[in-house]
Amino acid sequence: MNRFKDKVVIVTGGGSGIGRATALAFAREGAQVVIADIVEKSGHDAVATITAAGGKAIFIATDVSKAESANALVNSTAEKFGRLDVLFNNAGILDGFASCEQTTDENWNKVIGINLAGYFYCARAAIPHLANTKGNIVMTASAAGLGAGAAGLAYTASKFGIVGLVNQIACEVAGQGIRVNGVAPGTIVTELARSLPNFEELTNTVVKAVTPLGRWGEPDEIAKPVLFLASDEASFITGTVLRVDGGWRSK
Ligand code: NAD
Repeated sequence: MNRFKDKVVIVTGGGSGIGRATALAFAREGAQVVIADIVEKSGHDAVATITAAGGKAIFIATDVSKAESANALVNSTAEKFGRLDVLFNNAGILDGFASCEQTTDENWNKVIGINLAGYFYCARAAIPHLANTKGNIVMTASAAGLGAGAAGLAYTASKFGIVGLVNQIACEVAGQGIRVNGVAPGTIVTELARSLPNFEELTNTVVKAVTPLGRWGEPDEIAKPVLFLASDEASFITGTVLRVDGGWRSK
């Protein structure tokens, strides 16, 4: 119950879906959670859910695609709580399944700005604080970052890029006692998934077709591996992107 007692954990995209489930899981394990999200209402709702369950959380309105906003998130967290132990880089958006030829400059810049640059900005700001606590970073990649055909171009490129961030930053900061890992979810049933126009069709065809386990994953099934990677149980694991995809990329 207290794996993260007195630890300070930032969860980007913590207002919804995988981020919210993971924020709740960290709080249940005793962490002081900082929910960072661009949507203020869902950020405040997530804090209310955590505090109602007896956990500790605050909300900091953040746009991870802006370096100054990412810096402010990390620095104000460290100032307020005196430390930072875990950064869960997770905020992300889809790309409308646009192919290379269909991808506009605007779509490319927006998706790469949030999904890839946003992860870089938050990681860069967090490293000096994580060095003080021998903390760690976990990043949400995707099955779309391990092979083609799961999304459009910009999303796929951003998620392949996150695998690069995990490997490169892990090697750079290992000497400072910081670990860096990722999770690669498959088809997880969140608001993002439910908002897809062809959600029903996806469930009956794509999800069952691509996922050997034959179903959507639940946000909690990502939260648990994220907590494992962020915990001392994973003390010799760094530079790893753990597939949590129901077997999808075994095919
Ligand atoms: P979600 O839409 O439920 O949550 C994403 C959150 O990110 C939202 O709360 C949103 O407001 C926030 N966000 C978006 N832009 C932001 C910004 N600029 N700054 C700060 N916050 C911002 O989606 P989810 O499914 O929980 O996705 C979480 C992560 O998991 C994403 O990186 C996504 O790519 C990844 N992922 C999801 C699935 C899936 O099937 N749901 C599969 C693989 C990977």
